[in-house]
Amino acid sequence: MSKQLDENLKRCPKCGSMHFFEVDYRQYMGETYSSTPGGELRAISSALKVCVCLCGEPVLASSIRSLLPEERESLVTSFERAAQHREQREPEHLIARLQESFVSRPEFQTAVDAVEKLGHVAESLANEKDAGAPSGESGVI
Ligand SMILES: [Zn+2]
Repeated sequence: MSKQLDENLKRCPKCGSMHFFEVDYRQYMGETYSSTPGGELRAISSALKVCVCLCGEPVLASSIRSLLPEERESLVTSFERAAQHREQREPEHLIARLQESFVSRPEFQTAVDAVEKLGHVAESLANEKDAGAPSGESGVI
């Protein structure tokens, strides 16, 4: 493959792959009744081609420019919603959300160390009290 051709190949923004499959996406009418299996799904738009990378990332093809404005806007809106949904499910986002609710290992260790220090302080105070208190007042009979 020539370098010129390689540079012009469409690449996945997520993984850099250069291989895609084309999928037809349509809008369907919901909540319709049909006695035939699958008959309740009725396509109400023409097929809109979307490229999907080997990694699963959809990539809008430049051919969307040839769509009718309302079809293009509808497809781009769906595309953006799906991208936002996928983004929220990526491990980095999940970890960031979990970090808001849970302590990290260093934070946990800091808390454990502080509790141990308090335990030592309480123990030494108890020892000082036992050593300094006159017999008979320690409460032990
Ligand atoms: Zn990819």
